[in-house]
Amino acid sequence: MNEKRQNNPRANRPKQGGQKNDNGPLHNVSRGAAIRAQKRSVQDANRKASQYLDAASSNNNEQPRRANVIDDSPRLKIIGLGGMDGGGSKNMLVIEYQNDAIVIDCGNDLGVDLPGINYGIADTTYLDQIKSKLRGFVITHGHLDHMGALPHILPKYGVPVYGSRFTIGRVEEIFSNFGLPMPDGFELKTVAMNEDTHERLKLGEFFIELIRVTHSIPGSTMVVVDTPVGRLINTGDFRLDPNPLDHERTDIPRIEELAKEGVLALLSESTTTERPGRTPSESTIEQSFIDIMEHAPGRIFVGLFSTNMNRVQMIVNAAVHHNKKVAMDGRSMVSTLEMAVRNGFVKVPKGTFVPIASAASLKDEDVVVVCTGSQGEPNSALVRMSMGDHKFVHLKEQDTVILSSTPIPYTGNDALIRAMVDDLLRKGVHVHRHETYVVDNGGPLHVSGHGSIEEYRDMIKMVKPKFFVPIYGDFTAKKYHMDIALQEGIPRTNIANVENGQVINLTNDKLVVEGEVPHGTVLVDQTGAIVSSVVVKDRVLLAEEGLVAVVLTIDKKTGALLTSPDIISRGFIYMKDNEELMNAFRGELRRAVIQRFKRVDLDRFKAELKDYVTHFLYEQTQRSPIVIPVVNVIGGRTEKQPLDAAGQPTEKTLAQKSPEEIALEQQRRFAAMRQRLLNQDARLD
Ligand SMILES: [Zn+2]
Repeated sequence: MNEKRQNNPRANRPKQGGQKNDNGPLHNVSRGAAIRAQKRSVQDANRKASQYLDAASSNNNEQPRRANVIDDSPRLKIIGLGGMDGGGSKNMLVIEYQNDAIVIDCGNDLGVDLPGINYGIADTTYLDQIKSKLRGFVITHGHLDHMGALPHILPKYGVPVYGSRFTIGRVEEIFSNFGLPMPDGFELKTVAMNEDTHERLKLGEFFIELIRVTHSIPGSTMVVVDTPVGRLINTGDFRLDPNPLDHERTDIPRIEELAKEGVLALLSESTTTERPGRTPSESTIEQSFIDIMEHAPGRIFVGLFSTNMNRVQMIVNAAVHHNKKVAMDGRSMVSTLEMAVRNGFVKVPKGTFVPIASAASLKDEDVVVVCTGSQGEPNSALVRMSMGDHKFVHLKEQDTVILSSTPIPYTGNDALIRAMVDDLLRKGVHVHRHETYVVDNGGPLHVSGHGSIEEYRDMIKMVKPKFFVPIYGDFTAKKYHMDIALQEGIPRTNIANVENGQVINLTNDKLVVEGEVPHGTVLVDQTGAIVSSVVVKDRVLLAEEGLVAVVLTIDKKTGALLTSPDIISRGFIYMKDNEELMNAFRGELRRAVIQRFKRVDLDRFKAELKDYVTHFLYEQTQRSPIVIPVVNVIGGRTEKQPLDAAGQPTEKTLAQKSPEEIALEQQRRFAAMRQRLLNQDARLD
């Protein structure tokens, strides 16, 4: 989401570098306009970064109708700490009753588009508040948006993770691949539940059970939670595939059985509630791979989502059918495949797999490579192969590339995919995409892992819940889902479209949305470390406007500049190309020192200097970089030292200080300066 300012001061910007008109420098910009322009830049940066504030920064602690933490009334509480916005990312639901609570799903948000940020996770301030009630995390399936935040969040609570066998395999996989060490004493406790035998486990006052559903990763389940108030069902992600490749259909008989006993509330995922009809079965695309392999003149490369193991199985089957070897590439895919093969979820005849390193030595017509990169992700295996950056494999004329996915909506991935396809076609590679399968003379190459409207409807019809809460989607997707529930006869008063943090209070005859708990987003960088939103704001501002530091060294006694003003510019303008502007700038700085330094105190002088510089640069370039004034004042040792009660100088003079003390002081000064910089939006008013 790129929010663009409405009155872009750069729209009619002259060429960078202080161009002058016939009347000399552009002095037609008011000081107020310059300050306003800078304020806008700061606001833009704030807005961009503020889409992802943590609970403390978003102030929702101070909201008046805050939910009571030590609420032990006989009410069931359902709270989405994540997953109730942003297309269903960082999914995380809390189910709480008196002294017990469980968390369903614990995902991350890979769609965060901020400099240096890898993903977002849910703020868990609320979980800290109810820590003693937590009995476990139950994970519906092994996609990252449902479990990717566990390595960050789980160690704080030390409770077990429950899920199907494949899901638990995924949990162990992400913990072993996590970049940062776990805290001392933390031990990952997992409980693999059997979804086929309808195994039930007691977690505090709750009983949980998993029910098999079809989705795009093995071991996907719904979670049944029997509570003292009634039965809840969280669908997880699902479609109702009548003919899945692994013959593991959604366990409809069990759903109907539970429905007969009565279901208080259905919490149903809302990813694709705007898509009419039904999602085609996975089996409808099987023949397409067999056909393409039949006719491809050379090597075949298939790009997929790294966890789509059923699709991998489909391609392995097609390759075996044509007597070809299969190589895998992409770290995440290889890691998941190893786990899936180990646990019997993917079955590969002996001798079918070959290492990617030896793929180049096989005959072209014998090679199928399954890899990551179907979304055109930079650094993915397929993109590196297409750009000639791959260690073992470079794509060439007569190779065939099959993209077996569609662009993830709202991500900008379609542009990345397009650029990759450009590269491939330029090289003479045959490209097959799902979107163009008709003109490519092939069959369909992808089906969604999520249902369409009629499947969402079927779920409601099967479960027959008293109350309905759409989850895992943004407001719009949940709204469409609500409409389906209304059509199926669920009264409006029994349906709620809630946002993250809002508390649903449920009794057996009433649903009330009441109060809000702390919630928000915590940002994580490539190393797995948490990044403060203050830092992110700075990065956005720097990226948009650049930075100018002016360093002035002034004689305390005379108030004169001791050296020529030093100007450091980064990401603003290239100083060597703008000598005229820089000379004028230095002149302005000299004048500012002469006119103001002796008249005001140092802090005031710096503040004025910052405004002055901001104004000057805006006037000349119509841009508002971050301005950092650094003023070194030299001399003044003759000044009388303030004395403490014992008659000793309270502050050492410069000569008495060790180099370490001087450095420390400098550090403090820089910290103070930084603080002022961060507060600049407040100071501009
Ligand atoms: Zn999923």
